[in-house]
Amino acid sequence: MPTADALDAPAAIRKRLQKLGLQRRDDLVLHLPLRYEDETCVTAIADAPIGVPVLVEGRLVDLALRLAPRRQLVARISDASGDGSVLDLRFLSFYGSQQRALENARERGQKLRIFGEIRCGFLGREMVHPRYRILSDDEALADSLTPVYPTTAGVSQGVLRRLIAGALRAADLSELLDEDWCSRHSLLPFASAVALLHAPPPELLAATALQNRSHAAWRRVKFDELLAQQLSLRRAYLARRQKGAPVLLAAGQLADRLQASLPFALTGAQRRVAAEVAADLLQPYPMQRLLQGDVGCGKTIVAALAACQAIDAGYQTAFMAPTEILAEQHFLKLRAWLEPLGVEVLWLVGSLRKSVKRAQQLQAATTAQLVVGTHALIQEGIDFARLGLVIVDEQHRFGVVQRLELRRKGANPHQLMMSATPIPRTLAMSYYADLDLSVIDELPPGRSPVKTRLFSDARRDEVIAAVRAVVAGGRQAYWVCPLIEESAQLELQAALATHATLSAELHDLRIGLLHGRLRSDEKAAVMAAFVAGEIDVLVATTVIEVGVDVANASLMVIEHAERFGLSQLHQLRGRVGRGSHDSVCVLLYQPPLSATARARLKVIFEHADGFEIARQDLQLRGPGEFIGSRQSGVPLLRYADLEVDADLVELARELALQLLRAEPARAASHLRRWVGNREELLKA
Ligand code: ADP
Ligand code: MG
Repeated sequence: MPTADALDAPAAIRKRLQKLGLQRRDDLVLHLPLRYEDETCVTAIADAPIGVPVLVEGRLVDLALRLAPRRQLVARISDASGDGSVLDLRFLSFYGSQQRALENARERGQKLRIFGEIRCGFLGREMVHPRYRILSDDEALADSLTPVYPTTAGVSQGVLRRLIAGALRAADLSELLDEDWCSRHSLLPFASAVALLHAPPPELLAATALQNRSHAAWRRVKFDELLAQQLSLRRAYLARRQKGAPVLLAAGQLADRLQASLPFALTGAQRRVAAEVAADLLQPYPMQRLLQGDVGCGKTIVAALAACQAIDAGYQTAFMAPTEILAEQHFLKLRAWLEPLGVEVLWLVGSLRKSVKRAQQLQAATTAQLVVGTHALIQEGIDFARLGLVIVDEQHRFGVVQRLELRRKGANPHQLMMSATPIPRTLAMSYYADLDLSVIDELPPGRSPVKTRLFSDARRDEVIAAVRAVVAGGRQAYWVCPLIEESAQLELQAALATHATLSAELHDLRIGLLHGRLRSDEKAAVMAAFVAGEIDVLVATTVIEVGVDVANASLMVIEHAERFGLSQLHQLRGRVGRGSHDSVCVLLYQPPLSATARARLKVIFEHADGFEIARQDLQLRGPGEFIGSRQSGVPLLRYADLEVDADLVELARELALQLLRAEPARAASHLRRWVGNREELLKA
């Protein structure tokens, strides 16, 4: 796309720059340094400190090619600054041309300007592979700090610096925001902020504000970045409201009848969010609501009530879960709830693909009232006749692309996403700002909190005894096998080994095994046996992580707990404590623990609240990993930090709303500067 804004660089360089996301001048302007080097003043060699980057100058007093211990070129320079004014430059790899140029410089008595760190070598003070230049005559020193940019193979700092300096001269740096508003909120003008960050005055090097990105210039850039993010999210949100969706006005009393048939009453929080969802479904544009609530708070029934409303209005509902085990649990539960009320519930997963049954199921799915399944539901094949509502359980397990694919299946059906992974406030305000949010902040009555115990592997015997005691008391236990991320094959072996060991250690108990490699009917059979109480101890891989609901299970043992992530541990722990029995989660770990592993286990030991755990997780891992760019569909923030810059997130959100309302042209210019053409995903 050659535009007026295209980069003035050879095609080969342009291609490499694309890898860095640099396609336009504006991109270069916003490509900010990682750090700086000070080449504004020359230090006398005799005074130069060890281990700190310095600029020195001197003439070559010797140039030697040494062959031992390995081939190297050693250039000795001196600036006659007194005792210790000699410095060796050592090059272990060099070109012949380089050697000749240095030889020339020595003969002509030319000066070298050198930047690097001095260290104490075997034969005295030296610099290894410093950056240097042979000076022709008295070349002026830099008058600002030298930026060091993130770069990629084949694009040197020098090339990047020249391109960026050029872009800064040619690009439009005009102020896009209201100047008074900016100064009221202590935001520097855009042009001065970027100019400063690309070429700061030397005195700023000592100030930490530049390095830790708290300087006013950084503040402005971070604000602009957050504003662009808020604007794109908000635009996607508004665009959705322009699309039509069926108004799901229930003709009957299905939802009321379902509620009346339940053995429990809804909690206040469940009633509140069910009403929020019901109101959304009556709107003529697609709902996109995230239903959040800690494990075990009862999200499924809220989803079932929404499905009732859609069915009553004459539309179909698709209900997706990330794994077959979970999808099947949902299917069984929904069927038990809804079939007595005359609703036809259909089961559809990927493993049915090749059989004859698949064709029949696909056929049935076109008209079934409620279809439950895995993401097989969004793969080709089903033509829903009247899809009105899509429910996605454990939303954080699906990528944004899968979600969009699903939406295309019907004429913009309403979407209800559910997640037990709570989103900390700053994340909710940024990456998830295009969704409406409902939170269930209350557990059903009668739950007793799960006790968490930490055991070193050396005390495994005590854990085995605890399993025995639990089963003797009529309860059941889960035993989660070590996670082996790098290989599914090894993980399977570990699961088989754990099962064999436990079967020997607890030979009088009934031990079941559940892992991802079982055929789906085998998985279903094991799960059914556990639900029916025919298995005492279920040895499982993390396939049970999400959604599994067996109220009689009161002990969860997690082997090698130090290998699991925080949200995984929290989810696993949530598999127990679902009935009224006292429940325990044992975290077995293998010492010695790394510092992060220790920090993670401490968090899970000390906190039961999923929100607090997620907040700490965010701190330990950072938002990039927390949501994954794949899932966010939004370019990850490069400069702003959601924790540190929380105040800027709020401010950006405020201004984004105001601009879109009152000054859409300004909003568009700002987005163009920051996002350019990288906004496709959001428009879908
Ligand atoms: P999650 O939010 O983790 O998906 P579930 O929907 O699986 O939770 O509900 C957990 C368990 O609590 C289920 O057995 C469900 O039937 C039960 N449950 C849900 N709501 C209530 C309630 N209001 N009172 C008692 N039990 C409930
Ligand atoms: Mg659930």
